[in-house]
Amino acid sequence: MSRQAANQEKFSPQPEAEYPPAAHFIAGDWSEPASGGRLASIDPSNEEAHGEIAAGNAEDVDRAVRAASAAFEDSNWRHMAPSKRARILGRLAELVDQNRANLALLESLDTGKTAFDSGKIEIPMVAEILRYYAGWVTKLEGAVVPLPGNAMGLSLREPVGVCGLITPWNFPLLLATWKVAPALACGNTVVLKPSELTSMTSLWLAKLGAEAGLPPGVLNVVTGDGEAVGMPLVRHPRVDKISFTGSTRVGKLVQRESAETLKRVTLELGGKSPNIVFADADLKAATRGVIGGIFYNKGEVCAAGSRVLVQREVYDDFLAGLKAAAEKTTVGHPLAAGTRMGPVCNARQFDSVRRFIQGGLEDGARLVAGGRDLRDEVGGGKGYYIEPTVFADVDPKARIAQEEIFGPVLSVMPFDTPEQALEIAHDTRYGLAAGVWTRDIGRGLSFARALRAGTVWVNAYNLYDPGLSFGGFGDSGFGRDLGRAALDSYTEPKSVWLNLD
Ligand code: NAD
Repeated sequence: MSRQAANQEKFSPQPEAEYPPAAHFIAGDWSEPASGGRLASIDPSNEEAHGEIAAGNAEDVDRAVRAASAAFEDSNWRHMAPSKRARILGRLAELVDQNRANLALLESLDTGKTAFDSGKIEIPMVAEILRYYAGWVTKLEGAVVPLPGNAMGLSLREPVGVCGLITPWNFPLLLATWKVAPALACGNTVVLKPSELTSMTSLWLAKLGAEAGLPPGVLNVVTGDGEAVGMPLVRHPRVDKISFTGSTRVGKLVQRESAETLKRVTLELGGKSPNIVFADADLKAATRGVIGGIFYNKGEVCAAGSRVLVQREVYDDFLAGLKAAAEKTTVGHPLAAGTRMGPVCNARQFDSVRRFIQGGLEDGARLVAGGRDLRDEVGGGKGYYIEPTVFADVDPKARIAQEEIFGPVLSVMPFDTPEQALEIAHDTRYGLAAGVWTRDIGRGLSFARALRAGTVWVNAYNLYDPGLSFGGFGDSGFGRDLGRAALDSYTEPKSVWLNLD
């Protein structure tokens, strides 16, 4: 019996999840969809519906935007005493902690991520982000600006207004919180549109927000697909800002459509991030970092280190280490003990990743590990399971080196000089993240400066903190989530000239 199938044997009966109603959350309460329609939520481990959500449309979006707009205008939220606003966000963090088990379970059922990843990493991080931004509420200060004559200048920070937040399926609640927390901290009101594939936890976030004391209309959630809900939100004249995380293709569409009503736009898009390994690196640590960089969350990470550039002196040895580590990565049911990698999130993704693997073979890359789908072996004929896959000697111009696969597929290529490493690293249209592995701290820092990427990890990969901003260059988008930088994108500066004569 293979290691993967053995893992499935350890799978214990599925715990019961508590589902939100198949409804939107508008103006502080559950709200039936205008169409009465529903969409199934599919469990990627068995390809069966495990729940359903409301299929929203433009009418639902309009209701939610009006609720958000009314909540912004009546100033209950934006003019609430900052310490009280901070307490409400802090209480929401507590409620997320208290509901961690259920939120994590729903996240695993919707996405196929492991119970460890959702329960021990992501949901706790959601609470931390809420706490981080709760801390900022009382510190959103402006400035006093020197002016000529007997005058004083004030620079105030004001909330932008109604924020339409559109999120993808790979880290549903985490990426929603990257946007919701700073938006609310700055006094805005929100209409959140989660991915139609993974909406459950965003709905609970809104319900928990109401329990924590958010006034009605401050945080609304409308579920449904991109055309039916996302686009009306982008086009709605009463929405002041769109923050979008998703594919570059849809991001460009969002920006085009937002132009009509001149919305502020933040775009967090795709990536094809390089992990650069120099011969002088701690190669054990680099192997762990590179493997985690591509197989964490099945490679469904915008910042996945999907291209690995290895200095030629250590290329063969390093590849051997990657092969061994990939083959040791246990693929199994997301809730089974010991699973390191669950199924990819959905049927479209499963087909697309398999096509990329086929394309890699056809383009002549050398398959070093994986390459098969494990639907039969792990899922007994069902489930979007894919083997952790490593290709070596990949041509930097090949499709698997250029396009975002968004799955557990690594492309490895050699380089000789630092200049060549930088050239290959920059040879994509993206610029989201990069990693550099070296014991030479001077080289690490000069690469950190030279790389055109929103995040550079030196001797680390895939680490995040609420205080460090995240976003991209080039086709990876613009604007930043997290950190102090996010506060700028959810506030407008206002200048006040005080004539003191
Ligand atoms: P996607 O672009 O298909 O969808 C993202 C969101 O946009 C979903 O909520 C979807 O319903 C909505 N949408 C789809 N079509 C729309 C339209 N016409 N108008 C308005 N909204 C629309 O992306 P996805 O498949 O959900 O997510 C995967 C992509 O997200 C990958 O490219 C990945 O790199 C990217 N991503 C980026 C980051 C980041 O921070 N840079 C983080 C996670 C994921």
